[in-house]
Amino acid sequence: MYTNITTSVNNTPRGLPLTRSHLEQIFPKLTPTQLRRIKARGQLRAVQRGEILYEQGDTSIAFFVVVSGELEVVRPLGTAAVETLVRVLGSGQFTGEVGTLFGRRTLFRLRASKPSKLIELDRQHMVALVQSDAELGQILMRAFILRRVELMAAGVGDVVLIGSTHSAGTLRIKEFLMRNGHPYSFVDLERDPDVQNLLDSFHISTNEIPVVICRGNVVLRNPSNQQITDCLGFNEAIDQTQVRDLVIIGAGPSGLAAAVYGASEGLDVLVLETSSPGGQAGSSSRIENYLGFPTGISGQELAGRAYLQAQKFGAEILITKGTRLACDHKPYVIEAENGARIPARTIVIATGAAYRRPQCENLPRFEGAGVYYGATPMEGQLCIGEEVIVVGGGNAAGQAAVFLAETSRRVHMLVRSASLVEKMSRYLVRRIEETPKIVFRPYTEIIALQGSNHLESVGWRNSQTGMTEEHKIRHVFLMTGADPNTRWLDGCVALDPKGFIMTGLDLSPENLSATHWPLSRPPYLLETSLPGVFAVGDVRGGSIKRVASAVGEGSIAISFVHKVLQE
Ligand SMILES: Cc1cc2nc3c(=O)[nH]c(=O)nc-3n(C[C@H](O)[C@H](O)[C@H](O)COP(=O)(O)OP(=O)(O)OC[C@H]3O[C@@H](n4cnc5c(N)ncnc54)[C@H](O)[C@@H]3O)c2cc1C
Repeated sequence: MYTNITTSVNNTPRGLPLTRSHLEQIFPKLTPTQLRRIKARGQLRAVQRGEILYEQGDTSIAFFVVVSGELEVVRPLGTAAVETLVRVLGSGQFTGEVGTLFGRRTLFRLRASKPSKLIELDRQHMVALVQSDAELGQILMRAFILRRVELMAAGVGDVVLIGSTHSAGTLRIKEFLMRNGHPYSFVDLERDPDVQNLLDSFHISTNEIPVVICRGNVVLRNPSNQQITDCLGFNEAIDQTQVRDLVIIGAGPSGLAAAVYGASEGLDVLVLETSSPGGQAGSSSRIENYLGFPTGISGQELAGRAYLQAQKFGAEILITKGTRLACDHKPYVIEAENGARIPARTIVIATGAAYRRPQCENLPRFEGAGVYYGATPMEGQLCIGEEVIVVGGGNAAGQAAVFLAETSRRVHMLVRSASLVEKMSRYLVRRIEETPKIVFRPYTEIIALQGSNHLESVGWRNSQTGMTEEHKIRHVFLMTGADPNTRWLDGCVALDPKGFIMTGLDLSPENLSATHWPLSRPPYLLETSLPGVFAVGDVRGGSIKRVASAVGEGSIAISFVHKVLQE
C-alpha cells in the first residue's frame, strides 16, 4: 500500500535532541483511570488494519486515544504512494497537536497499522475535555505544544518558502508563519544551488520571489498574508456569520487578554487579527518588566502562550483585517478584508498602534532589507558581527540596543533629544551606559539611506553642530513610536486630537452629544462613545504603553462587557 517509509520526527536529525523524559511528555501514556474519564466523553470505535481515520488536509479532525492496537501518523509526500512515518502510537497514547485544537487542516494522515480499539472524541468534546479536566487538560496541552515545537524545529509542514534572507517579502512571510506557529521549510535562493531547478519545475521567474509552495501543489508568487491564510485554511473551521457575544479586533496583549477572560467566563468570543498574534509585544526580543518573568520572556513566547490559552478556553481567532465598523444598527457588524461581515453584540477594539516612519525618501525600499521595526532573534541573526543603528529613545529602543549589542560589532543609538532619561526605564539606561559596544549619539537624525537590493550605507546629521556623516552600515532598527490604528473606524467612535480612542470619564458631555450617545447611563470604564464598544491597550487615549497595562485593560473590559450584555 505504501512504499517509502523514511524518517520519523522523533528521530529526525534536525529536530531537538529528545531525552527520555521529554519524549514521555510529548507522547505520554495515559493511565486506565484517565482513559475511563476520556471514554465517558467520547465513543469506542473498532478499526481494521489499514483503515484511514483522517487524511492530510482534513479540517476539524477528531481526537483518538488508542485503547489497544496501534496507529501510524504518516506524512504523504507528493503522491499518495510515498509517505514518511512520523510516529507510531500504541495503547494509552493519543493523537493531535496544536492545529487539532484550532480545527486547522491536519499536516498528517492517520491510519490503523493493526486492528485497534480507539476512543474517539470530536473536536468540540476534545476542547471541552481540555477546559474542564485539569489533569488531562495539562497533559494534552503540554503534548500538543511540544509536538508543534518539534514540527517547527524540524521544518515538518505543508509549506515551502523560497526566498532570500535579504528580501523584505521573505522576512514578512517568515515572520507571519513563525508567529502563527505554522511549520515550514525554507529554501535560501542565495545558498541552495538546486533551487533554480525547483523554480524551473514550477515555471517561476526570479522576479516572482518570494514563492510559497502551499500544501505541496499550490504555488503562490510573493503572496499577501491573506493569500497564505486562505491557502492554509487558517480560517476554515470558523463560522464567520453567527452573531457573537464579543468580537475583539486585534490580538496584541490587550486583545488576547480580553479573549482569555471573555472565553473563560463563558462568552462566545471571536478575535480578528490582521497578521499574527502578539502585536507590538510579539516583536520584542525580551520583555523583562512583565510580572512573573524574572529572567524576562521573548514577546513571541508570551504571545504564543496567550494565543493558546485563549483558544483553550474556546475563543476563535480569524486571521484577517477589520476594514470597517458598521455602527448604525445593532448588532454591530465588522466588515473584514476576507469579505466576512461579522455581527457582534459587543466589541473590544484592541488594534494598538503602527510604527512611526521617519521622513526618509528611500525608506519603504529597505523595509525588511536593512530597515526593521522589531529586534527579535530573527533580525539579530542577520547582523551578527556587523555595525547596526537603533533609532529611538524609549524602552523598545533600549531593549533592542542591549539585545543587538550581544552579537553585533557596534550599536549606534540615535536620538533626537539630549539624553535617554526622559522616556526610558532607568534599568535600561544603566545597562546601555554599561555596554561599551553601544555608542550613544544625541541630537542625531537619519537623513539618507542608500543601497541597491539591500541597505548599504546610512547618512546622519547632528542637529546641534549641523555635522553630517555617512557610514557603511547595513542594518537600521527604527524604534520611534507608533500611531493608533483607528482610521478604519470611520467616525463611529470619538477620537482625541492624536487619533486615539476616547473612553469612560475622558468623554465629555459634548463628546457624547456629538456622537449621539443614546443611554441615560454614562459610558463605563473603557467604553467608547458607542454603547457596548470598548477600547483597550495602546489604541486608547491616555493608555500607558506597556504590556502589563494592555493586559490589565483587556481583562477589565470583560466585566463591563458582561454588564452590557445584561442590559
Ligand atoms: C519592540 C518593542 C518592545 C517593547 N517592549 C516592551 C516591554 O519590555 N515592556 C512593556 O511593558 N512594553 C513593551 N512594549 C510596548 C508593548 O508591546 C505595547 O504597549 C503592547 O503591545 C500594546 O498592546 P496592544 O494589544 O494594545 O496593541 P498592539 O501590541 O499594538 O497589538 C495590536 C494588534 O492589533 C492588530 N490590528 C491592528 N489593526 C487591525 C485591524 N484593523 N484588524 C485586525 N487586527 C488589527 C495588529 O496587527 C496587532 O497585532 C514594546 C513595544 C515594542 C514595539
